[in-house]
Amino acid sequence: MLAEIKGINEECGVFGIWGHEKAAELTYYGLHSMQHRGQEGAGIVVSDGKELKAHKGLGLVNDVFKHAKFDDLAGQSAVGHVRYTTQGGRGIENVQPLLFQSQSGGLALAHNGNLMNAHKLRGELEEQGSILQTSSDTEVLAHLIKRSGNKTNEETIANALNQVVGAYAYLIMKEDKMYAALDPAGIRPLSIGRLGDAYVVASETCAFDQIGATFEREVLPGELVTISDEGIKSTRFAPRNGRKMCAMEYVYLSRPDSNVNHVNVHSSRKRMGIELAKESPVEADIVVGVPDSSISAAIGYAEESGLPYEMGIIKNRYVGRTFIQPSQELRELGVKLKLSPVRGIVEGKRIVMIDDSIVRGTTSRRIVQMLKDAGALEVHVRIASPAIKNPCYYGIDMSTRKELIGANNTPEEIGEIIGADSVAYLSETGLEEAIVKDKTINQGVCMACMTGNYPVTKDGETEIQYTKC
Ligand code: SF4
Repeated sequence: MLAEIKGINEECGVFGIWGHEKAAELTYYGLHSMQHRGQEGAGIVVSDGKELKAHKGLGLVNDVFKHAKFDDLAGQSAVGHVRYTTQGGRGIENVQPLLFQSQSGGLALAHNGNLMNAHKLRGELEEQGSILQTSSDTEVLAHLIKRSGNKTNEETIANALNQVVGAYAYLIMKEDKMYAALDPAGIRPLSIGRLGDAYVVASETCAFDQIGATFEREVLPGELVTISDEGIKSTRFAPRNGRKMCAMEYVYLSRPDSNVNHVNVHSSRKRMGIELAKESPVEADIVVGVPDSSISAAIGYAEESGLPYEMGIIKNRYVGRTFIQPSQELRELGVKLKLSPVRGIVEGKRIVMIDDSIVRGTTSRRIVQMLKDAGALEVHVRIASPAIKNPCYYGIDMSTRKELIGANNTPEEIGEIIGADSVAYLSETGLEEAIVKDKTINQGVCMACMTGNYPVTKDGETEIQYTKC
């Protein structure tokens, strides 16, 4: 479904390139391909080997760089960021990459994830005399790096990383080096690619395809990768444990053409649809997917059930950005503006409506109503993931427990609330099997928002207090 009306929001995407004369332009294209990961702000910091320069702003990548002169961003290396913001975290000061200057040079940071102990660390830093200029948890890491030693190197970064707890994919850049780091559970995605002699790092592999780079490898949990003119070097700041990649990256967040931890997102979604059809068949005439992220699962459901897949709902791609503000009022208006039923397809039909997930239920209710108004005889809702019952503390903004319809209602009750003839979810096992095709490579996934089994906890400190990204 549509990110901006659904109630699940990705918390940013990072992109970095080392050793290419068009570093800033390529970063712009890389960020553009990851626009779905954040639409509130974007930025690029470039290094020419002597100094770091930034260009950032609020809005979509295109808006931010519309009047940018890439000649002013000349350099062979760059890091970039797209950002989704929660209420209170808006403002240019929170747009990343954050750039700090000191006597020992510049330091740029771009982050995807959430630091669970940011509140505590921030309090400690302030007590010790630090003045923080943003409400972003990313700034906390910059201060910890500086406090770990005069120079920024593997040791000071590792020292700082060992003090933070949570989910994070970091890109850190100095004038002469770039660092990529992933949290010890590997919850957020981060991959390394090559473009000729240049190295590329990105949250999603679709960014590599966009600029013609090839995938090289994943950054591993607890790994700190250093990239410089001397090449690439790997060190470890935490022991290697089993990976717990965010299951929602496959269900909903990532682009279908991305491979997340070696698994193609479209293919995993299709398998979710196949499993769902096996677990929850229904007598119907057609299968319809809610665009865009549910289409792959709907294709899988249709294939397994033998029912025809039809385009019963279309998405209006030309609705302006005015309607993608994260407020309830505009979210509800946004459903009508962005999705339309195809009357000629759905009229007189019993429909299996596939959606990737259900958060508050308000959007599902409107879509079901829309299909029935267009003449659908029955609408059976099948959700290609288990019920979301718990909040995420690892960087995905998805409503409070009180608002989560799956936390407080059975599928039958949800059916009544949203006006559907039946509702069924994919099982936890079904989802895991659809994602983890090869345990030796994929190891495992985080499904905490569905199961309540959080892979990372810190002294009960799970409240999100600062703007995350
Ligand atoms: S809790 Fe849910 S959204 Fe958050 S990282 Fe885990 S699977 Fe992803």
